[in-house]
Amino acid sequence: MKSLVRSLFVSMIALLAAAPAFADLRVATSLTDLASVAQLVGGKHVTAQSLCRGYEDPHFVPAKPSLMKAIQHADVFVSVGLELDAGWLPLVLPGSRNPKIQPGAPGFVDASEGVNVLEKPSGTVSRAEGDVHPLGNPHYYTDPKALEVVADHLAEVFSRLDPPNAADYAANAKAFDERIEASLEKWKNQIAPYKGAPVVTYHKNFVYFAERFGLKQFGTVEPKPGIPPNPRYLSDLSERMKKEDVKVVLYQPYYNPDPCNQLAKRAGGVAVKIATECGGVPGTDDVFSKFDVLVSSVAGALSGRTGGSR
Ligand SMILES: [Zn+2]
Repeated sequence: MKSLVRSLFVSMIALLAAAPAFADLRVATSLTDLASVAQLVGGKHVTAQSLCRGYEDPHFVPAKPSLMKAIQHADVFVSVGLELDAGWLPLVLPGSRNPKIQPGAPGFVDASEGVNVLEKPSGTVSRAEGDVHPLGNPHYYTDPKALEVVADHLAEVFSRLDPPNAADYAANAKAFDERIEASLEKWKNQIAPYKGAPVVTYHKNFVYFAERFGLKQFGTVEPKPGIPPNPRYLSDLSERMKKEDVKVVLYQPYYNPDPCNQLAKRAGGVAVKIATECGGVPGTDDVFSKFDVLVSSVAGALSGRTGGSR
């Protein structure tokens, strides 16, 4: 009997020793940036993965069965919120048949909670014209400070779901915020020489960045978010750009570069491909490297040093 107890005890010790090999929380997100923040806040207790890739348009992700399967066993799902993922998440979440991460369940997180939302519509909202920003601009992850709000929020959620590691989550979120503050100084200095400079972007996904770094969102290649341009609109925009000396057109890898290059050519400027989401271009694996590359690309374009993809 004694030896049985002893061998049971030994097996228990062996199990406990093996435990750290497994992450405590499986986290899935709708955006690569959210997965990056979740991983940095969760540290060794979390494995985080994003359903949308950095080179895919986060508004329009195909709701494939493989995505549903990928979140079948997730403990937490982090949505961008503000309807950025409203075109596909309402199909993917129920398709996962995972009760832990459905809206309203403790494992579902709306990452926009607590973020200062820009371009909130006043009055009644009509989706009739296809506008994909009906609740305000959902691209807050282009502002490093907004990611601090997300990090603090995720630390709270992870602590609630995994109380034994709460102190680690709080410490990781604090370290994240401090690293953002230090990096922000560096990024602001890089953009400072171009303060007030106007830029055109394909989609209205740059307003938070523009606001944080003191740039001017002059116009968008799309007449409305989610609506592709027509020749008349592009010709008017290029005339306005010429008149106001606007030289830089920015677009993400998932947009058609042709109208961007046309506009830039007519205005005598450059069209530059940028990543506003982690993984959009090489070397942007986490949110810090994303901002390093993004800030350098934008500063380079505004200085006229880069030819971009003219
Ligand atoms: Zn958008």
